Amino acid sequence: MAIQRPKGTQDLLPGTVEQWQYLEDTMRNVCREYGFDEIRTPMFEATELFQRGVGQTTDIVKKEMYTFLDKGDRSMTLRPEMTASVCRAYVEDKLYGQPQQPVKLYYIGPMFRYERPQSGRFRQFHQFGVEVLGADQAVVDAEVISLVWDLYQRLGLTQLEVHVNSVGCPVCRTKHRAQLQEFLSTRRDDLCKDCLDRFDRNPLRILDCKNPTCQAATIGAPTTRDTLCEDCSTHFERVLTLLGVAGVVYRVNPRLVRGLDYYTKTAFEVMVEEIGAQSAICGGGRYDGLVEEIGGPPTPGIGFAMGLERVLAALQVQHKLPEEKPRLFAMLVALGEKAQTEGFALLSALRTQGMPVSMDLLNRSLKAQLKAADRQGTRYALILGEEELENKVLLIRDLTLGEQIQVPLINAVEEISKMYQRGVYA
Ligand code: ATP
Ligand code: MG
Repeated sequence: MAIQRPKGTQDLLPGTVEQWQYLEDTMRNVCREYGFDEIRTPMFEATELFQRGVGQTTDIVKKEMYTFLDKGDRSMTLRPEMTASVCRAYVEDKLYGQPQQPVKLYYIGPMFRYERPQSGRFRQFHQFGVEVLGADQAVVDAEVISLVWDLYQRLGLTQLEVHVNSVGCPVCRTKHRAQLQEFLSTRRDDLCKDCLDRFDRNPLRILDCKNPTCQAATIGAPTTRDTLCEDCSTHFERVLTLLGVAGVVYRVNPRLVRGLDYYTKTAFEVMVEEIGAQSAICGGGRYDGLVEEIGGPPTPGIGFAMGLERVLAALQVQHKLPEEKPRLFAMLVALGEKAQTEGFALLSALRTQGMPVSMDLLNRSLKAQLKAADRQGTRYALILGEEELENKVLLIRDLTLGEQIQVPLINAVEEISKMYQRGVYA
């Protein structure tokens, strides 16, 4: 039996990879405009980082981590998300001491979670995210959400639902937690097994449960907004004002709580219903307690993570992916070894000037080479047969128009370069 790729993973093949590159390029461009710098951290970390940074009561830590022993007794885990890693790097690499504050970072890369694979849910998936560390003002929250909004505008995504909420600080959350427990105490029979477990440990997360009976049981439950302290409430109102100023279309969703323990104040999520049950394309929020939790100095932080697979799915259903462009400007069609040698030198010169060109690598006939060039979507065939070689000329055939010209071999690079710059190709 042939070996297959692991369940829940994907091979991204040519044709699809270009869509990924387009998406990643757009993300990088928006980040540059917002003044964010890229960070890359290891694909695996000490398990304890995620236990502390993501939280012991979360689904991620309880059920979804790829954890292994590293040739001994060191427990390592493939990163299920990157916020904890970025915060670790912030502490370990002393980014708080850098002249530029706050620290504004972004990342794009694979994450790993042992989940049941289904549409929009993979075991290796990819996230784009940003983190701002060292600033607690509401304007930071607004800037981060506005970056997400701008990215989606740039991509042409519509039918977005941006949900915003405040989960408060540990002080107001204690109050909310008590109210919520009281409200749910008479409805415990309706809760799923997981939520019964959450009832004592992390009742806030019951609001987040996808189980319909749990959702029904929480209708009318006290919301976080009712219990916000003055500081959290002022902060939230300021965020909403600034989102209005930036033109972000949002909805306050009092039931929105993030699944991670370290979130404080602002929480947000973006959904696109068209892509099905796994409709969340982005989730984020403030986490003022996290850096301290993993052993750093008290540092406010805020960020989000966005699933690339799901954003691509949304772009796909909305027909917003750019058309595929031919990769090659010209294909060399050379016949015989001498022509191949001459052509090889020509291609090398063209490539030095930045032109994407290729040649037949299968020793095919003239007809087959031309057919292959056409199939590639290439605009030009550079034909070099025995006759051309003898006369020291090159035939340049426009495969779209079916026309061809002859140029002296010695001028070939210059001529082709002119055609390239005229933008016939672009
Ligand atoms: P979900 O409720 O869908 O499980 P989550 O709360 O676990 O999401 P986060 O940890 O906030 O998700 O991750 C941020 C984003 O990463 C999600 O909004 C989603 O777009 C994407 N994402 C999370 N898990 C997966 C996965 N297994 N496969 C593909 N994308 C994912
Ligand atoms: Mg999840």
